[in-house]
Amino acid sequence: MKIGVYPGTFDPITNGHLDIIKRAHQLFDKLYIVVPVNIGKSALFTTEERVDLIKKVLVDYPDIEVVATDKLTVEFAKNVNATAMIRGLRMVSDFDYELQLATINKKLDASIETVFIMSSHEYSFLSSSSVKEIAKFKRDVSLFVPDVVNNALQEKYK
Ligand code: ADP
Repeated sequence: MKIGVYPGTFDPITNGHLDIIKRAHQLFDKLYIVVPVNIGKSALFTTEERVDLIKKVLVDYPDIEVVATDKLTVEFAKNVNATAMIRGLRMVSDFDYELQLATINKKLDASIETVFIMSSHEYSFLSSSSVKEIAKFKRDVSLFVPDVVNNALQEKYK
């Protein structure tokens, strides 16, 4: 059984993340979406809120598990017998950071491979930060995020 782990901040989950999740779902028998707690970044949504939003968005995918972890993501992956960590690549600007992360993770655990899925062109410009920036100005972001996330953003910036 091929098990994959897609780690990310997901602050909040966007249609770009969702596209990667759906495509990774085709490649693995089991998929975990993992939200690390205690990340350095200050997030708009709490870890619980982010996990909850992802679960709501993935309600039709009962075989995808959404969890928070206080472990290193490679350790989490090892514990659930995953063979790969999945990351999305939007454009060249993502490459440096992602290469660094994948190289460090490989040093930490050589048995876990990082698999990159290229963003679909319609989402290559999309990031959680740009969505938050637009929502902060009370502009509609329904093109970029699932409805439940749109509602949660409106609530945050009310
Ligand atoms: P992190 O803080 O771990 O980078 P993010 O939630 O920003 O968390 O992103 C998680 C992963 O999803 C990263 O690999 C990122 O490059 C990828 N990603 C984010 N937005 C998109 C998108 N629109 N299309 C494809 N991949 C994306």
